[in-house]
Amino acid sequence: MTDVTALPFDMPSVEESRPTVTFDLSALVHNWQAVRSFAGGAETGAVVKADAYGCGAGPVGRVLIQAGCRTFFVANPAEGAALRPHVGDAAIYIFAGLSATTLTTYAQADLRPILNSPAELELWKAKGGALAPIGLFIDTGMTRLGFSAEEVRVLAGSNTALAGLGPMMVMSHLACADNFSDPKNEQQLNLFSELSSLLPAHSRSLANSDGILLGAPYHFDLVRPGLALYGGSDALTAQLGLEPVAYLHAPILQVHEAPKNTCIGYGATYKVARDSRIAVVGLGYADGFRRGMSNAGIGWLAGREVPVAGRVSMDLTTFDVTDVAPEKAQAGDWIELLGSHLSVDRVGKLGGTLGYEVLTSLGARYTKRYVIDGNLVSGDEL
Ligand SMILES: *Cc1c(COP(=O)(O)O)cnc(C)c1O
Repeated sequence: MTDVTALPFDMPSVEESRPTVTFDLSALVHNWQAVRSFAGGAETGAVVKADAYGCGAGPVGRVLIQAGCRTFFVANPAEGAALRPHVGDAAIYIFAGLSATTLTTYAQADLRPILNSPAELELWKAKGGALAPIGLFIDTGMTRLGFSAEEVRVLAGSNTALAGLGPMMVMSHLACADNFSDPKNEQQLNLFSELSSLLPAHSRSLANSDGILLGAPYHFDLVRPGLALYGGSDALTAQLGLEPVAYLHAPILQVHEAPKNTCIGYGATYKVARDSRIAVVGLGYADGFRRGMSNAGIGWLAGREVPVAGRVSMDLTTFDVTDVAPEKAQAGDWIELLGSHLSVDRVGKLGGTLGYEVLTSLGARYTKRYVIDGNLVSGDEL
């Protein structure tokens, strides 16, 4: 039998050979509230780009609206238009993608552009939403999107460049917030404080999830957590008391007795050193279970860790379950690959990547389920 005692919801029986991902929306709300408590007086928004880091922007938007979130961020106008029906009249800011062809999307879905260059500013003034609220992004040391320091100074020195615009949230983004002792954090903070004070900022925003932990001087008027909402890095989890949101389970399809020296999988890269049992599990790299997990990943079965044995294939992965009692490692049992025993951070490190990529790679072939307080809910009908 699958060991589900530690799960905050029930698992169905394995009826078809599909992995199942379960999103705990109560945990998501808990995490948003934990960030909000930590952020003190600053408003807490929510970054829901990339389909809410793979967790589903619709359901995530709906529960966060109910929890009191009023400001959302997505990557591009198409994501913003898809989010709009789920979040009522909340503010939706778009990190990138203001152009002549997307202007109508901004108008139709009531989206707020984040202007990243003088050219975008001109376009918005000429054809955009008149006095509608906007964001303005300053590059303070990451060399990604945004106005340069020089461009901000030119803008601030002009009598006309900023005329006729709506309320403006001035923003920037930290390059090294995951390393609290990196001096670049304070350099960016100082430059952002200086440059944003030259502009008629209605509000200011600097901190992503890790940046929030850097403390109150980094919070300004609004904080922009993404990863923390979805279960976070282990550092965020420890500091904020976050809960896992995404749980991934895959079914054991078959269990083999593998005598000593049996080779497993493509390339025969794993040879068992003792008489072993190998569980063949129905997920692979086509499901976002990275090939980098070959001979490196870990599953959780019947209260213990079981290692990936051999290479991950497209649809199948083999685990060495020799140390699990045979009756607890049977075809039809679930093996946990992400959840309370295996954090997104840990799984990322095992696969040579990071939690962000683990979440955004969650596969399209999964059965997706949402739970609130342990009960299944339909993602469409929240
Ligand atoms: C993605 C993103 C965030 C959220 O970052 P997390 O590290 O996931 O909290 C905030 N601001 C900007 C500009 C982003 O691109």
